[in-house]
Amino acid sequence: MEKEVKTTCPYCGVGCGVIAKVAKDGKVSVKGDPDHPSNFGRLCSKGSALGETVDLDGRIFHPEISGERAEWGQALDLVAQRFSDAVAEHGPDSVAFYVSGQLLTEDYYVANKLMKGFIGSANIDTNSRLCMSSSVAGHRRAFGSDTVPGTYEDIELADLVILTGSNLAWCHPVIYQRLAAAKAARPGMKVIVIDPRRTMTADIADLHLAIRPDSDVALFISLFEHLITSNAIDRNYIAEHTNGFDEAFAAASGVSFNEVLELTGLPAMQLREFYRLFAGTEKVVTCYSQGVNQSSSGTDKVNAIINCHLATGRIGRPGMGPFSLTGQPNAMGGREVGGLANMLAAHMAIESAADRDRVQRFWSAPTIAEKPGLKAVDMFKAVADGRIKALWIMATNPVVSLPDAGAVEAAIKACPFVVVSDILKDTDTARHADVLLPSLGWGEKNGTVTNSERRISRQRSFLDAPGDARADWWQLAEVARRMGFSDAFDFGSNAEIFDEHAALSAFENNGNRDFDIGAYAGIDRQSYEELSPFQWPQPAGREAPVTRFFAKGGFYHADTKARFVAVKPVASDRTNTDYPFTLNTGRIRDQWHTMTRTGKSARLSSHIAEPFAELHPRDAIEIGVGNAGLVEIESPHGKAVVRALITQRQTRRSIFVPMHWNDQFAAMARIDAVVAPLTDAISGQPASKNVAVTARRFKAA
Ligand code: SF4
Repeated sequence: MEKEVKTTCPYCGVGCGVIAKVAKDGKVSVKGDPDHPSNFGRLCSKGSALGETVDLDGRIFHPEISGERAEWGQALDLVAQRFSDAVAEHGPDSVAFYVSGQLLTEDYYVANKLMKGFIGSANIDTNSRLCMSSSVAGHRRAFGSDTVPGTYEDIELADLVILTGSNLAWCHPVIYQRLAAAKAARPGMKVIVIDPRRTMTADIADLHLAIRPDSDVALFISLFEHLITSNAIDRNYIAEHTNGFDEAFAAASGVSFNEVLELTGLPAMQLREFYRLFAGTEKVVTCYSQGVNQSSSGTDKVNAIINCHLATGRIGRPGMGPFSLTGQPNAMGGREVGGLANMLAAHMAIESAADRDRVQRFWSAPTIAEKPGLKAVDMFKAVADGRIKALWIMATNPVVSLPDAGAVEAAIKACPFVVVSDILKDTDTARHADVLLPSLGWGEKNGTVTNSERRISRQRSFLDAPGDARADWWQLAEVARRMGFSDAFDFGSNAEIFDEHAALSAFENNGNRDFDIGAYAGIDRQSYEELSPFQWPQPAGREAPVTRFFAKGGFYHADTKARFVAVKPVASDRTNTDYPFTLNTGRIRDQWHTMTRTGKSARLSSHIAEPFAELHPRDAIEIGVGNAGLVEIESPHGKAVVRALITQRQTRRSIFVPMHWNDQFAAMARIDAVVAPLTDAISGQPASKNVAVTARRFKAA
């Protein structure tokens, strides 16, 4: 029988609605959901090819222990026993979960509850650490909570859209389509793209600022200073709704115009045009993504951007605001349930004794983690040095995606006990598992995801679970029961988990955070089953939805005021005579993460079939490599060999290599083996950009 189901794309943070159709012969086709407010029927190439990636090739059908088929009971008993033993012998911080923005909110909720409330450690982190944790930290510093102030509609309503560190055309293609359509309809609308590379997104730009890598802080504090000295600020907004203005101004004033020119590498005329456009346009949205977040100064970059919007009062009103674009389909949902090592559920803070107490009492938990746990890079360092005795990895492939990937692989190999829950048997990470657990894939699982604009949508199943595959939340709950925590994990369905998540968001509302506390309480069981996409907050009893924040203040610091953060630029050039090139990594249009799913579609691979290194023509001449010749890129951490793509889009001494490929697809293609494990000191987000490397023509040994 044919069936049609409304669901959500499992790839990027745009969160497009998809209508999936299963034909009588079982063939799956998809189209964009015209009623979904994030995409209004549009899909990008990846979303359109979803039907080509749901075959069962390579799937795990049964649990395995040491490579041998096992029953669920055996596998779950073993996982529970080994985690319990490690906790008993070495304490709760000797175990860790490394999870993923691919998990549904319900999975994330159960994982977080088990680790923080019952095992008693905060050693649960996520691959979302790699995509947006600097934005989370920046939001919390400025706003007092991790709250995205605006909506996608603001990008269409703005008269000036600034895209910084965002190749929107390839990484958030449907938002790009919405922006391009708005710009075509309103020729007065301007777009500025800030990126060292002339990306496809830059083709739509009225002004492209090819700044030096990691000079964003210098650029935005100079804008901040210009706005103040040219009297283009909103003094009423600053006085009524903010703190810290004078300190931030003093820090910005300490950097001269000439220093900014030097740090950014921009011509003075371009810098002045940037100032003029921002100062003279009321409706400004500044979108930022991985070029901002994936940096050792990522959090400062975020606050440098937010400072400019606070100073002008351009926040939370139609067509205005700073806007962090998340990379993954449920990076935001993970943030809501505290899926990061330094957060608690329902946007509560692990550092707050009152919040810890509230969550512990709500869960009737025997304990609660008292301090932040290990963030992704530090977690795998702890695996490497033997502090972590049992590790559970869910729905992610850190052997390819984490920086210093070779060292991560060695750490996982050496870890005494590794559990991997995934859909595919032979990922670079899954092959090192002691216990391999078969999870449900897209089209098989049920639950919710939250996109970049706080919009919650349903992923719904339309395919039968293959073999013995089970939901990730079920696997976690079964292990929790076996560890002795039966009552608290007696979930019968994803809907029951969402009920509890919604109830926690409304538990003991202290009146100070009405947007966050109770944010999901208006979603009862029936609304959950029939859920049409909605933006949180949706507290019980609220009639009109709140779609934007902070136009009239109401921040989440105790005094309800926002904070300007005094930030200073840091020297960003890491190159030296041994490593004279700057490597930036990123995504391409038609692949997702480590290609475990998009790599199945021949159509998607026909766009770009092989990993490549974009090189400036003069650099290519210097190293003696021609177009499509092999180039070897090396850092002190590792090397990769990819084809040269010689292009004027690249600036001199800079190299761009996509992050998707691994050694399964092409030998020596794992670029994250080259990336240094450097992180932002505040957010812990890895600096996947601005890596000092050397590049040479590859010569076979
Ligand atoms: Fe999926 Fe993102 Fe493409 Fe939308 S833009 S179809 S969410 S990959």
